[in-house]
Amino acid sequence: MRRGIVLGLLIAVGALSMARAAVQAPPPSGPSAAALNATKIEKVKDNLYSITGSSVAIRDAFSGGNTGVFVTDTGVVIVDTKLPGWGQVILDRIKTVTNKPITTIINTHTHGDHTGSNEFFGTSVETIVQENTKANMEKMDAFKGDKAKFLPKRTYKDRMSIGRGKDQIDLYYFGPGHTNGDTFVVFTALRTMHMGDMFPWKDAPFLDRSNGGTGVELPKTLEKLLKGVKNVDTIIGGHQPVQQWKDLEEYQRFNADLLAAARASMKAGKSVDEAAASINLTSRYPGYESMRVKAAIQAIYDELNKK
Ligand SMILES: [Zn+2]
Repeated sequence: MRRGIVLGLLIAVGALSMARAAVQAPPPSGPSAAALNATKIEKVKDNLYSITGSSVAIRDAFSGGNTGVFVTDTGVVIVDTKLPGWGQVILDRIKTVTNKPITTIINTHTHGDHTGSNEFFGTSVETIVQENTKANMEKMDAFKGDKAKFLPKRTYKDRMSIGRGKDQIDLYYFGPGHTNGDTFVVFTALRTMHMGDMFPWKDAPFLDRSNGGTGVELPKTLEKLLKGVKNVDTIIGGHQPVQQWKDLEEYQRFNADLLAAARASMKAGKSVDEAAASINLTSRYPGYESMRVKAAIQAIYDELNKK
């Protein structure tokens, strides 16, 4: 291979987010003490829990995205399954709150830090994803060949409800953003929504363009979510503590402002570096970090340049 191609590949690999890099299996020695310690089961409301993970930035303590645990009359529904190798820990944590069997997995999206331990739970558990996410999962080595049997068997396009009464769960798809198949999981009776990496942290988003992610559509998709879902007050995000609805409204505004600033910088002829240096949203958004702003601007520039 020519040097330029190799260099280009290296840059492309380097540009993958930490979330994707973290998709690698944990070392054979098993989860580190720090990672186990960061992976706690916390009560969100009544019969709904979240099994946490560390911030993506703390690599040696990272186990993957927050796992929702909803204990229904007929069994346990889990939302997202962390990295490969975390199934037993998820099960152990669930056993501390219920003896009911796990009947259903919902994956908010394709990434390996949210689907990595699906396999652990076997083929008798029903797995549900938005249809684009199933197509994305089919491209992952973790679901190829022999392992295709672990692919989700149930999909939906825009909306699906499972369970009834206090056990009802509504699934919504409002369009692309983080990927092109992100599900919003609403536990109706508890006024709580698990939304995976459509609200992963308080910082710029990871826009996974290789799986249909888009910074141009993300603010619109979040706007549709804000208008289309009623009676939710509590949010479980991908990689952060529990948030409130007003935090989600703020995250939508942050993403709209980030896109507008990136567009304006591009129009002014600024490079990505210049744009990243001049765009300061943290003063308007207290508590927000800017570790991911440059990568998001790069993704938006590429998208606007149709790269
Ligand atoms: Zn993700």
